Amino acid sequence: MTDVEVPESHPRYDSLRTRHRIEAGVENGITSKQGLIAEGRGEAFDYLLGERTLPSADAAERVAAAHLLLARHPVVSVNGNVAALVPDEVVELATVVGADLEVNLFNRTDERMRAIANHLRDHGAEEVKGLAGDARIPGLDHARAAVDADGIADADVVLVPLEDGDRAEALSALGKTEIVVDLNPLSRSAETAAVPIVDNIVRAVPNITAHARDLAEASPAELEAIVNGFDPEAALRAAEMAIREGRSGPRAATDGHAKHD
Ligand code: ATP
Ligand code: MG
Repeated sequence: MTDVEVPESHPRYDSLRTRHRIEAGVENGITSKQGLIAEGRGEAFDYLLGERTLPSADAAERVAAAHLLLARHPVVSVNGNVAALVPDEVVELATVVGADLEVNLFNRTDERMRAIANHLRDHGAEEVKGLAGDARIPGLDHARAAVDADGIADADVVLVPLEDGDRAEALSALGKTEIVVDLNPLSRSAETAAVPIVDNIVRAVPNITAHARDLAEASPAELEAIVNGFDPEAALRAAEMAIREGRSGPRAATDGHAKHD
């Protein structure tokens, strides 16, 4: 990994480190060129959110953990950006909640599928699904529809970080509970999700894992109460308001950037 060159004291250290990981992902054949563009879009939204996890996103991450723990067959979908940014973290999440990892690419090539699966194995994954591609998500054209019959096709709960809008819609039309991580609260992907998480994947995944650990002893009834209390519309609205209000919003009064008298 190219976690070099940027001193930790740099005010935007995390953001620059993330960018370097995506660059390395492209060089290693893990991340697509479109992934670079997605990264740029994500950075812009993260900047506007203050590069922090909003309370509404933290709540959504707890709900995601509850869904994953309740699931009959949870699957964590991994694309090129996710593999480049949080390989250790997705392996850990999958282990803690007992989920499958499945490589699932918008721009599917055998080479990139294999590179990502190997990368995840290098980071501790035992089994990586997605290479069989022996089932289809209805409603999508051939290349974008491929999933594993014993993976996403069979799943009841799917975590799809940075998914494109069409596929997010097609998955939720199949009746699967879809958890989406996307920094853009106006994205169609976020809008179709049962649980939209408006947060950076680098913060979201470890935080879902932390919540899952915290909820490990919770009863199904407790987990269901967490799931049923969630309002996806309200979560999206909270994120959009945080972006629109910016410095003049309530956040200015609490984060110490602005003094008021
Ligand atoms: P729509 O969902 O409206 O159809 P799209 O799917 O065409 O939009 P993409 O560029 O494919 O848009 O989606 C990439 C999304 O991933 C963007 O919304 C971007 O904000 C988000 N994103 C990029 N990097 C990250 C990250 N590190 N963490 C979370 N979200 C990210
Ligand atoms: Mg999208």
